[in-house]
Amino acid sequence: MTSVQPHKKAKALKSSSRRPAKELCSECGLCDTYYIHYVKEACAFLNQQIADLEAEAHGRSRDLEQWDDCYFGVHQTMMAARKQQPIEGAQWTGIVSSLAIEMLNRGWVEGVVCVQNTESDRFGPQPVIARTPEEILAARVNKPTLSPNLSVLELVEQSGLKKLLVIGVGCQIQALRAVQDKLGLEKLYVLGTPCVDNVSRDGLQKFLETTSRSPETVVHYEFMQDFRVHFKHEDGSIEKVPFFGLNTKELKDVFAPSCLSCFDYVNSLADLVVGYMGAPFGWQWIVVRNDRGQEMLDLVMDQLETQPVMSKGDRRAAVQQSIPAYEKGVTLPMWAAQLMGVVIEKIGPKGLEYARFSIDSHFTRNYLYVQRNHPEKLADHVPDYAQRIVGQYQLPQS
Ligand code: FAD
Repeated sequence: MTSVQPHKKAKALKSSSRRPAKELCSECGLCDTYYIHYVKEACAFLNQQIADLEAEAHGRSRDLEQWDDCYFGVHQTMMAARKQQPIEGAQWTGIVSSLAIEMLNRGWVEGVVCVQNTESDRFGPQPVIARTPEEILAARVNKPTLSPNLSVLELVEQSGLKKLLVIGVGCQIQALRAVQDKLGLEKLYVLGTPCVDNVSRDGLQKFLETTSRSPETVVHYEFMQDFRVHFKHEDGSIEKVPFFGLNTKELKDVFAPSCLSCFDYVNSLADLVVGYMGAPFGWQWIVVRNDRGQEMLDLVMDQLETQPVMSKGDRRAAVQQSIPAYEKGVTLPMWAAQLMGVVIEKIGPKGLEYARFSIDSHFTRNYLYVQRNHPEKLADHVPDYAQRIVGQYQLPQS
């Protein structure tokens, strides 16, 4: 008698109006598949279980006595890197795409879960299982919106793939780790990027229209380590808007509620993480979490220029001051914001200290958001490492 796995009897939710995590849903895609059967356990917003999943993926969870563990997660090494020959059109220098291509070309994996864009919208997410280098390259550059990457997981099982690379952000990877044993895989590699302040497609439009001089020509943007948002336009020009000049009042409700209650900025459960925020301006930031991550990185080391991570400055006063400023929705006039940007670029936190600045600012904001909007979730939903980070600051009474 053949036994059917329980999830195969489950029905995917095709309507986004019915999500178990309700408004906290990050649209990771799990509920679009029959793995919705496991959602109560797997969803990052229904069941925060980062420490347990870290122990399974990396052999240990964070050591809460170590600040670097609290901030950056379990890791073996960190470094700054960039491709000697950057990939044209990649978000940074294309380390993520290069790694995926190398793994596919060498037969380490048979497919790569990544996200291309839809035909009609350069920022519209279209998750795929890429089977060729061209399909991986077509997924380069961020789709800065919530993206249902896990919606293709059913296809993994159906197509009989046994060796898979998944590229994704923290909420997607948390759900993936919780169901990875059900996918019928022999080998799974997980390549993560940090992620913060993501938005729905409508939210993205509002952000672009509120912030850029020419929203319809933006092809790429990033919140950079020089405290400015860099928008790249179709004609190649770069527009820079200082963080301190953002229209905080208008933008407060742009970020997705899932992102306002997320404490996995650094993608704790990936084997290898490629971001930028712990690296000097212009460089990418690499965090190797376990042996598998090191093996993956070794594959592309000969394509990279690297340097050790560095840390400079002291973020704490700036974070403490930013808490009431954000609460009040303070927006500086553009001349003052530009000036502030220049000063802070000179004396502000750099390297790992910039990453800590960004983590502290987001974790304090998100802690207040959960406390106010979901007080019943606060104790279980905020991981211990995040409680420790937030505990360094004085927060306003709710
Ligand atoms: P590329 O070679 O251009 O490849 C990009 C990869 O990202 C592609 O494989 C694609 O499948 C995947 N991808 C694109 N959009 C999404 C999405 N919405 N969900 C899941 N996967 C996606 N790094 C930081 O250090 N700090 C941050 O605050 C930060 N915020 C981010 C927010 C978002 C929404 C995303 C998607 C990434 C963020 N990153 C952040 C990561 C950073 O912007 C780069 O993606 C990373 O450094 C890789 O650059 P690359 O040139 O190597 O990638």
